[in-house]
Parts: sequence; structure tokens; C-alpha cells
Amino acid sequence: MQKRKNIQRFLGTLLMMVSVFLSTFDAYALPVTGIIDGADEKSVRGWALNSSDPSVPVDVKVVILNQTSGQVAAELYTTASLHREDLTEQGTGGYGFEVSVPWDSYGNGTYLIEAFAAGQKLSGTKVHGVGVTAPVTTLRSLGIFRTTAYCPCRQCSGKWGGLTSTGTIATANHTISVDPRVIPYGSRLMIGGVLYTAEDCGGGVKGRHVDIFFNTHGETRGYGSRNVEVYLVQ
Ligand SMILES: [Zn+2]
Repeated sequence: MQKRKNIQRFLGTLLMMVSVFLSTFDAYALPVTGIIDGADEKSVRGWALNSSDPSVPVDVKVVILNQTSGQVAAELYTTASLHREDLTEQGTGGYGFEVSVPWDSYGNGTYLIEAFAAGQKLSGTKVHGVGVTAPVTTLRSLGIFRTTAYCPCRQCSGKWGGLTSTGTIATANHTISVDPRVIPYGSRLMIGGVLYTAEDCGGGVKGRHVDIFFNTHGETRGYGSRNVEVYLVQ
């Protein structure tokens, strides 16, 4: 009798542990999908849903990043519960979101718009300009790259000086050195809010590594080595 009770207690504990584990797992691996599919002077729009439980609307955070400074201008919160006729096949169809954006209060500049649900980044990063002609582009994240810096000095560029391997004159805030097998020459990359063009290569630049051109060696030392998200501008 005593033995059986112990087994029952053990099974009860085991069941509890499994259910706690499952609920924890569920909370961290929420299979959220969604996209930002519109941004204009008034608002940012998109949709998001939790495909493991499409009946419960997910909370969405929209992040507005100043591209020049890299600073977060605003974090806007909403719930994706607006009806979307194009998403009714996924379940309730109440997966749309729209947040008003007070662009004027952020000041002139170019802004990057990102959205997150349950800690996961939604696709469709957008660019919006305030008081500037915003580039009509799409940004596609290439993920995290190692970035370093170089200048025309002998230590950084040897006999090449300010001449790039594609024959252009290296220019600060414009030229980057890449592994052309990973990033083809001529590609435009957004890194830390600056739009660069891949027009140089280097012996030490291999794989997911971008070397950023600066005018002076002091600036390259100040930059050091940073792991940052890199966007392909299309
Ligand atoms: Zn140098």
C-alpha cells in the first residue's frame, strides 16, 4: 500500500514538472508570424498572429529608430486584433494592427520602422522620412555581421591608400570593404543607420565581416570591432 502511494506521488510530481516545462516552453517559443505592410505620414500597419493559438490576439511593439543617430525615437504598443479579410483562412482573421505615429514630434530625419511580437521580429522593416525625401527602398536584414574599421593609412591599407579594389576613391560614410562572395560589389548596405556601398575588399575581410572606411586612423581605433545587424537595401 505504502509503495503504491509513493508511485502515485511520484507520477503526480512528474506530471506537474512536465506541465510546468511545457507551459514555460510555450511561452518562450511562441510561433509568431507577421509583417509590417504599410507605413505613411499617419500610421504604421501590418498583421501578426500566433499560429499555435490563432484565436488569441498577440501584442505588437512598433519601434521607430532614427537612422542617423541609431537612437530609438519611440516604442508604440498595440494589439493585433483588427479584421483582415485576406487572413480569414488563418483563423478568426482578426490579426491586423495599426498604430498612429506622431512623426512631427520626432523631428526631421529618416526613420527605420521595426515591429516585434512575443520578442520575435516581424518581417517587412520599413523606412520613413520626415522633412526629407525618404529613399523608396526595402530593407532586408542579413543578420548579425562582425564590423571593423579601416582608413587610408599604411597600416590599414598598405600601398592602396584611398584607392578601392573596384577603382573608386574610398569615401567615409559610403565605402565598405566586403567579402564579395558573401556581399557582391555594388550592394548597398544599411549599417547603424548609414547607407554604404560595397566597393572594396581586403585580405582580412572574410565571410560575414564588413570593414567600414573612415578618414582617419583615430576613428578606426574608436570604432573597434562591433557585431551589428546589417540590412541589404533593395
Ligand atoms: Zn588606419
